[in-house]
Amino acid sequence: MTEPRVPGGGGETTELPCGTEIRVREIDMGMREFDCACGETHAVVTDVHPPDRFLPEFLVATLQEAIETTSEEMPEFGTPHLLGIVLEELPSEVTVTDVSDDQEVGYTMLWVSTFDARRLHEVIVELVVELMEHAVSHSDDSNAVSQFEQRMLEFNVTEFVDQYRREREIEEEDVYPAGRG
Ligand SMILES: [Zn+2]
Repeated sequence: MTEPRVPGGGGETTELPCGTEIRVREIDMGMREFDCACGETHAVVTDVHPPDRFLPEFLVATLQEAIETTSEEMPEFGTPHLLGIVLEELPSEVTVTDVSDDQEVGYTMLWVSTFDARRLHEVIVELVVELMEHAVSHSDDSNAVSQFEQRMLEFNVTEFVDQYRREREIEEEDVYPAGRG
């Protein structure tokens, strides 16, 4: 089915990091990747995706406790903060679009990266590990520091992401039964 591109009638358009322009409504809130006209598959994240898409819940809880957020709009550490970290590190690889004016899409923020969802997952985990290393290194508790460093020595990002994505794939069938529209 094709719809004519009526200005103002079909929702807003946004430019992806590769330069391709799409209508925001082409991105369904259940989508995780977008097969782009440029030939690449881009990771897609919206603010309605829970942070445990990327990180186990205990880690999300740790971050929520450890990181004081100053934004009133996003008081609790969540997906927007994770993507904010990626955006800060890789500003040319990720675009963010505020779609809060469009009530129909079901989300208010949209992030798209040049790389696919798996790579984005790895990037997020790598950056969060760095963030936590930084936080722990400022801790007065030297025992906690050495424990954390020991755990991180054994931590393999690629293995973690592989395993986590396998587990989530099974769960997602229950979590997003009709989310793909
Ligand atoms: Zn593209």
